[in-house]
Amino acid sequence: MEKQKTVRTLESQKKELQDQIEDIQKSCKHPELNANFIQDDNGGNKKVMMLCTECDAAVRYPTSAELKDFCS
Ligand SMILES: [Zn+2]
Repeated sequence: MEKQKTVRTLESQKKELQDQIEDIQKSCKHPELNANFIQDDNGGNKKVMMLCTECDAAVRYPTSAELKDFCS
């Protein structure tokens, strides 16, 4: 069961890293946003969100004007 052990270790490291990312994103003021594609939570679909240029957090959906800028 060597693989299972490795997977479990990696999973717990992954959770730790995700917590660290979350902490950074929570403390960030998101001073500048940029429209970009991100992976949808449930599935492989990509959607456009406004991402913080500092911490990469998906802050909000783009307005139609921002979406138009992004697509042009
Ligand atoms: Zn940010």
